[in-house]
Amino acid sequence: MIESDTRDWLEVPTDRGWQMISGATRASFWLDRPERPDPRPALVGDLDTDLLVIGAGFTGLWTAVIAAEENPGRRIVVVEADRIAEGASGRNGGFCSASLTHGLANGVARHRDELATLLTMGVQTLDEIEKSLVRLGVDADAERVGELDIANHDWQLDQLREHCDTAAQFGLPDVLLDTDAARATIASPMVLGATFDPHVMMLDPARLAWGLAAAAERLGVHIAEHTAVTGISRSRGRVRVSTAIGSITADRVVVATGAARPLRRRDRWATVPVWDYVLMTEPLSPQQRAAIGWSGREGLADCGSRFHYFRLTADDRILFGGWDALYRFGSDRDVRYQQDDREFALLAEHLVQMFPQLDGVGISHRWGGAIDTCTRFSAYWDLGLGGRVVSVLGFTGLGVGASHFAARTALDLVDGRDTERTRLSMVRRRPLPFPPEPMRWIGITITRREFARMDRNRGRRGWWLRTMDALGLGFDS
Ligand SMILES: Cc1cc2nc3c(=O)[nH]c(=O)nc-3n(C[C@H](O)[C@H](O)[C@H](O)COP(=O)(O)OP(=O)(O)OC[C@H]3O[C@@H](n4cnc5c(N)ncnc54)[C@H](O)[C@@H]3O)c2cc1C
Repeated sequence: MIESDTRDWLEVPTDRGWQMISGATRASFWLDRPERPDPRPALVGDLDTDLLVIGAGFTGLWTAVIAAEENPGRRIVVVEADRIAEGASGRNGGFCSASLTHGLANGVARHRDELATLLTMGVQTLDEIEKSLVRLGVDADAERVGELDIANHDWQLDQLREHCDTAAQFGLPDVLLDTDAARATIASPMVLGATFDPHVMMLDPARLAWGLAAAAERLGVHIAEHTAVTGISRSRGRVRVSTAIGSITADRVVVATGAARPLRRRDRWATVPVWDYVLMTEPLSPQQRAAIGWSGREGLADCGSRFHYFRLTADDRILFGGWDALYRFGSDRDVRYQQDDREFALLAEHLVQMFPQLDGVGISHRWGGAIDTCTRFSAYWDLGLGGRVVSVLGFTGLGVGASHFAARTALDLVDGRDTERTRLSMVRRRPLPFPPEPMRWIGITITRREFARMDRNRGRRGWWLRTMDALGLGFDS
C-alpha cells in the first residue's frame, strides 16, 4: 500500500509544471476552434419585445429556447455583452450533472425537507436536456457516462462510504468502488477508491451553446452579440432596458448574466466572482490512452475540499481543472485573471501526479473563468420590478445541467405561473448576502485557508468552518 504522503498534492509547482504549460495557448480550448460562429450583429436603436433575455450563456439560451418552444408566437430577444458562451458557459469542464443543489451533501445541509423532490427534478432535467439535444438537432458530443468521485486518502474513503449511505436513503444508485475496483477502472497511484454516480453527462460546452443559439434562431429568437445592457428600469407598466447604443422595451425580462457585475443592486450582495483554472492536453497517443485505463470515459473528480475535475474530450484530450478557487479583493472581475500561470503550472504537476504515465504530455490550452458564487452554493431566483424581471444567478460552479432547470423556473416566475418548481422553498428563498469589503475578502480568504488545513487534517473541520456551518454558510463539496 502506498504511504499517504505520496498521495498529497504538491502545493508549489516545480520546473516540470512550468515547462509543461509554457507553449499552451492562452484561451479556452472550447472557444478556440474554427467552427466558432461569426458574431451576430449588435442591436442598434430602439426595439420592442415580449421577452428579453440578458446574457447568452446556458441560462439565457435555455430560457430563449424553452420560451420559444412553449409559445411560438412570442417575440423573444437575447442580448449578449460579448460573444455567445464567452462567460462560464464556454470555459467549463462540461460536467452536466443532475444535481440542482451542488451535490448531495449541500442538498442535505440546506434543502433536506424537499431534497427528494429536488433529486427527482434533477434527473428529469438531465433526461430533458438529453431529449432536447436530439429534438433541436444540437450535437454537443454528449455522453451519459456518469462520474467517479475519487478518494486519495483513507479518510476520504470513509466520506465516500457515508455519501453512499446517504445516497441510498434517498434512493440514489451511487455505488462504492474499493481500491482494486477503482484502480481497475482508472490506472492511477492516487486512487484509493471511488463512488460512481450514473446521473452525469459529459458534453462539449461551446458546441452546446452554439447549437442552442442556432436552435433558438430557428424558433424565431433574435440574438444580438456585443450588446451590453447598462440599466433596467420600469416604464409605464413595462420594462425599459438601456444598452450602450439603444434601448429595448419588454414585457418580461430574464437576467442571466453569470459572474459579470450584476445589473441589479440586490444581486451585488448575493454573488461574488471566484476564479477557477483549467488545462487541456494535446490529444493522447494510443499508447498514452491505453496506459491510463479509463475505458468508461467517466467524468472524474477527487474529493478533497480543494478538488480537481477531469475528463476526456471527443478527440481524447484530457481537460484537467480546479484545485484553487481564487477570490480577488473588491469582487474584481478584470479579464487579466483569466490567466494565472502559477495555477496552471500547479495543475500540470497534479495531472502528472494523477497519471505519472503522462509525464511531459503536451498542454495545448490554459484558461480560467469566473464562477458566480453565492452563500448557498446553488442557483437562486430574484423576482422584481412588479414581477416583470427575474435574475437567475449563483450556480457556484455546477450550472451546466442546473441552468436548464433554472431557465424553466425563471420563466414560470416571470410569467406568473404557480408550478411545483415555484413552490419550492429553494426557489422562494434568497441566499444570505456577502458582507462588504474588507470583511468579504477576509472571510473568503480565511475560509479557503481553513479548507486547505482541513484536507491536511484528515477532513476534520476547524472552529472557523464549524462556525460557518452553524451560521448556515458552510460548504461540503
Ligand atoms: C472554469 C469553470 C469550470 C466549470 N465547470 C463546470 C462543470 O464542469 N460543470 C458544471 O455544471 N458547471 C461548471 N462551471 C459552471 C458553469 O459553467 C456555469 O454555472 C454556467 O455556465 C452558468 O451559465 P450562465 O448562463 O448562468 O452564465 P454565463 O455562461 O457566465 O453567461 C452569462 C452571460 O451574460 C453576459 N453578460 C453579462 N453581463 C451582461 C450585460 N450587462 N449585458 C449583456 N450580457 C451580459 C456574459 O457576457 C455572459 O456571456 C464551471 C465554471 C467555470 C468558470
